[in-house]
Amino acid sequence: MSRMNYTLLIASLLAITIAGCSRDSQDATAPAAAIPDVAPADLVLRGGTVATVDPALGNAEAIAVNGYRITAVGSDDEIAAYIGPETEIVELNGRFAMPGFIEGHGHYMGLGRSKQILDLRNVTNWGEVVSMVAGAVDKAQPGEWIFGRGWHQDKWDSVPEDAVDGVPRNDSLNAVSPNNPVSLGHASGHAGYFNDAALEAAGIDDDTPDPPGGTIVRAPDGRATGLMRETAQRLLSEAIGIYQGRLTPEEMEQIDRERVVLAADEALRHGVTSFQDAGTSLEGIEFFKKLEEEGNLPVRLYVMVRRASNEVMDEVLPQYKMLPEGNDFLTVRSIKRQIDGALGAHGAWLLEPYADLIETDGLVLETVEDIERTAEIAVKHGFQVNTHAIGDRGVREVLDLYERAWKTMDVDGKDLRWRIEHSQHIDPVDVPRFGQLGVVAAVQAIHGTSDGPWIPTRLGDERAKATSQPWRDLFNTGAIVTNGTDVPVEPIDALASYYASVSRMMVNGERFYPEHAMTREEAMQTYTINNAIAAFEEDIKGSLTPGKYADIVVLSQNLLTVEEEKIPDTTVDITIVGGEIKYKRGM
Ligand SMILES: [Zn+2]
Repeated sequence: MSRMNYTLLIASLLAITIAGCSRDSQDATAPAAAIPDVAPADLVLRGGTVATVDPALGNAEAIAVNGYRITAVGSDDEIAAYIGPETEIVELNGRFAMPGFIEGHGHYMGLGRSKQILDLRNVTNWGEVVSMVAGAVDKAQPGEWIFGRGWHQDKWDSVPEDAVDGVPRNDSLNAVSPNNPVSLGHASGHAGYFNDAALEAAGIDDDTPDPPGGTIVRAPDGRATGLMRETAQRLLSEAIGIYQGRLTPEEMEQIDRERVVLAADEALRHGVTSFQDAGTSLEGIEFFKKLEEEGNLPVRLYVMVRRASNEVMDEVLPQYKMLPEGNDFLTVRSIKRQIDGALGAHGAWLLEPYADLIETDGLVLETVEDIERTAEIAVKHGFQVNTHAIGDRGVREVLDLYERAWKTMDVDGKDLRWRIEHSQHIDPVDVPRFGQLGVVAAVQAIHGTSDGPWIPTRLGDERAKATSQPWRDLFNTGAIVTNGTDVPVEPIDALASYYASVSRMMVNGERFYPEHAMTREEAMQTYTINNAIAAFEEDIKGSLTPGKYADIVVLSQNLLTVEEEKIPDTTVDITIVGGEIKYKRGM
């Protein structure tokens, strides 16, 4: 038992003893239903089903909150003792309360930015993309860049005939936007799409060679199509940087502050009270720190260090380490690395070549040696390592390099809780290694069902079935499995990912290898206590245990008992962070 839990236990035993004594003395002099002998709560939720996600407490009916922490959970009768004249009461009226969702892997500022640019996630074909860009061009100044994100060719009802690798050429974009550079990020984040004005601004032409780790996709006639895979996107970064450089630092900060608010609105609307941010630069972390000090972080952030070299990290990590204290909104104790790309863009690193592109087995984005060095630096400074790996080769290489680094540094890795972000395709031989090594499978269930329809195309049926999102086998072999959405790759919709977890139901109405579905209870754990464990926060979050943060979400119906097909109809009614009601549906 940790020191904190132990202290809480002692505190509650004392409270029980004291309460017991005073009740005895009251019995002698006054009726039993006397004045409560506990301090009144600031907030009480009552009259519902409360899933505490604490095995010792089970389900309850009501919760009492003081300040930013939970004071008690129990029956309505038990919690009535905590109601005083000043107590704010939320009537659950039969609704369902549970720990606030913890987003296990997302991109916080990317979520905010996605609300400022064209949202292409729901377009049904290329024509719609072109007309949305045309609409933005109408409103833009000459030379102004048009940004969009979220398109995915495999989600369209059709693709133009002259498409290359299933992606259209940029001629129609050039026609509607001859003078405004256009940049449209792929849903996966692993490819970008640009019109000729953007390519020209970056000095890219048909003869520009592919950079290491990236591809400038070309048509059979040698012309660049506008699609840039993986690191090839960075060829455009400088031009975009120069364009954004026209803004003053104050204007840039204003845009960033707006992103923080937009992201928080989305998170709270979906019942998300904590957010694990999969990668922010040191400057970005400084910015978050400033906002935390001002009290302007509405959602709790667990931020992974990204985009700093091993040399820099070795020097500065100690000064960036921020462990939770008090009513904490910013924690930094982990590093994000990335070994491969995404399956959709043929970037996931596979043990065997792609079934539908046999000349490649994927991309290595950051070398094994470089990540292994990071792992050693992390051990030295007490940081967690969270490495993106999607393909079965990528996953194996990361498990191997974690093991080697622990050996080199002579530590037992079992308690370090290092993670593999995504863990999407795992060779059956490697599945038990997660449990054995104590490596966390940082899964986003929604990826399984939204990618499911085309995964067999990339991998072939047999390999898809053997390796894709093997949650059941991960649970059975003792792995900690987490959950999330990788927002803005997918919307930050915890209920959608919960539904995907238990049903593996795809949009086409078929189930994606349903033998790997989670139980309702497991899915709830992945989104609460398991995400907390994956961030060393199980003493303060992840269950409605007295003493932990009062981070609570109220839902319209019971996620543990409602018929499966009705789960998607669930609404988020109230979101509470640190005892404060931060969102109410319809408000
Ligand atoms: Zn991500």
